[in-house]
Amino acid sequence: MGVTRAEILSVGTELLLGQIVNSNAAYLAARLAEVGVDLYRQTTVGDNLERATAAFREALERADLVISTGGLGPTEDDLSRDALAAALGVPLLRHPDAETLVREVFRRRGLQLTEVQFRQAQVPEGGRPLRNAAGTAPGILWEGRREGRWDGASKAVVLLPGPPTEMQLLFQNEVAPWLREHMGGWVIRSRLLRICGMGEPMVEAAVLDLIHEGKNPTIAPLIEDGEVRLRLTAKADSAPAAEAMIDEVEAAVRARLDDHIFGVDEVSLPAAVVRLLTENGQTLAIAESCTGGLLASRVTDIPGASACFLWGATVYSNESKTVLAGVSPETLASHGAVSEETARELAEGVRRRAGSTFGIGVTGIAGPSGGTAEKPVGLVHFALAGPAGTRHERFVYSGPRAFIRRRAAWQALVMLWREAKTMGTGGQAGA
Ligand code: ATP
Repeated sequence: MGVTRAEILSVGTELLLGQIVNSNAAYLAARLAEVGVDLYRQTTVGDNLERATAAFREALERADLVISTGGLGPTEDDLSRDALAAALGVPLLRHPDAETLVREVFRRRGLQLTEVQFRQAQVPEGGRPLRNAAGTAPGILWEGRREGRWDGASKAVVLLPGPPTEMQLLFQNEVAPWLREHMGGWVIRSRLLRICGMGEPMVEAAVLDLIHEGKNPTIAPLIEDGEVRLRLTAKADSAPAAEAMIDEVEAAVRARLDDHIFGVDEVSLPAAVVRLLTENGQTLAIAESCTGGLLASRVTDIPGASACFLWGATVYSNESKTVLAGVSPETLASHGAVSEETARELAEGVRRRAGSTFGIGVTGIAGPSGGTAEKPVGLVHFALAGPAGTRHERFVYSGPRAFIRRRAAWQALVMLWREAKTMGTGGQAGA
């Protein structure tokens, strides 16, 4: 059979009560996309035989492949096996291979094997068990046709256990190899281009024609915590072919947005900054006020940050701005702590004292109180001092305190990434 349309069926009352998040469905959806199976629907039912049976029956009418998780344990309320057998209209039988798998787990773990455990050795007639490397309940794979049903088509159902570690191991070891053989050879690959310094509408406008043209590969704009991303997805008959199709679209996108693409896939902005500074042999020091250490934390989250990050100071009080970063008391008195002048002196002072390539100064009002008409909550001044002089930017963010602080840390990294990139490529990074 060729698997093209799949559905996921999650079984578990805990899911319906909101006690657990359906991470199994998310995991399976991502894996199916990777191998090129189109997922058409996800359904969740509680531990109820009637409704689970109906859900299996309906999913089998529509899909070629149904993957379910949960309800495979040994107790009475673990009823996925029963529901599947009822939906298929076949008996549930004790399967010798499943029995062997159950005995094996109990022997290996030195556990007492009781009759109730053999519920886990039952398989709907025509199915076979799948070894569960991390738990006691084997998974089940049932493939076949049923007289007078599904227009004669062959269907496949996979039952996986609920605990995520067991489910994932079982999927990787037993289901993924089976799927690759039954896929008719389609593979889906995705790539994420991560963008800074441009809002979503601008990014979308820049590639709108490519988005409209793109059926395969597709281009989808996404936004996550202020970061704009473009997801490129291709479907092809092999992984290299899909990658080549994505390369082509990526080149077309880069021709328009390259100056703003800081990373691909897992590469975050702090990681891109650390990588760039390290490659360029450049160093960094930070004097931050309203971000209170968040900026330094973002940088030091990245393994290997010590190659470029020299020091960071949280300069909350006026005195600390002077003592740690050398801001003159006159500047503070005449322009205030939240001002372009103070930001510039923070950046230049911390750079001078640390002897770093770059110095960053951040000062602003994170709120919720402390704002004035002239200097509202959300106002943040950024300065970046470097070999080419000092740049300044000013933003007014609206939102809660944590949001303003996050955005401010992000913006400082954007400034730094841009400057380091321009210098690193030999361009002019004039003030
Ligand atoms: P067991 O053998 O432990 O009874 P099972 O296959 O019967 O496993 P469930 O009893 O349905 O599975 O679920 C066991 C546990 O697995 C749940 O308490 C929950 O922690 C986790 N779990 C179940 N379904 C999901 C899901 N869809 N997403 C994430 N976790 C889940």
